[in-house]
Amino acid sequence: MSNKTLNLDDGLYAYLHRVSLREPAVLRQLREVTEQEEQSNMRSAPEQGQFMAMLLGLIGAKRVIEVGTFTGYGTLGMAGALPDDGEIVTCDVSVRGPFVARRFWEQAGVLPKVRLELRPALETLDALLAQGEAGGFDFAFIDADKANYDAYFERCLQLVRPGGLIAVDNVLWGGSVIDEAKQDESTQAIRAFNLKLADDARIELSMLPIADGLTLAVKKAAGADAG
Ligand code: CA
Repeated sequence: MSNKTLNLDDGLYAYLHRVSLREPAVLRQLREVTEQEEQSNMRSAPEQGQFMAMLLGLIGAKRVIEVGTFTGYGTLGMAGALPDDGEIVTCDVSVRGPFVARRFWEQAGVLPKVRLELRPALETLDALLAQGEAGGFDFAFIDADKANYDAYFERCLQLVRPGGLIAVDNVLWGGSVIDEAKQDESTQAIRAFNLKLADDARIELSMLPIADGLTLAVKKAAGADAG
């Protein structure tokens, strides 16, 4: 028995999937296509996607921002968890991933809920803010270039409503966060981001050791206890 989170070996990870993963066929097919892509380590783990879909349901999410579309696996899972009049604004710079994704979004019937913004995500987030969308979203998922994590987070914190949730991926960065030999820009950015959130009074915080580490931040109401 352990109080600490278990290290999952392949057998235990397969078991976790066997007894709890409920991945719809269209999601599984998209994942299999995604796994053939060079940067397949960039897509979300299926149990993480399932968990986030559950979170969307729990908070009654209608509008979602996703920073980092890649092949649209996470997009598809989240869009499926939204009501018919829900919307996911998904941001990416490259067309390659989203081009693969579109076919699957269509097949799953979620395409009408997906708004793909192909330009630097900071531009999209700033445009949403300029359009008066602050507080207009229930959930944000940040999973893109790590150097901009803090900039994405600050904008998403404005865009989600009080009580809304921001999920941030790869916060353990394969363990590099505690490896002093790793001083590249991405690793340093994630370390600084994690440290900042550690005592950020604007949010409720939880870091989950799921997949590559997932931080959950709930936006507190303005004027809420800052302690
Ligand atoms: Ca990721």
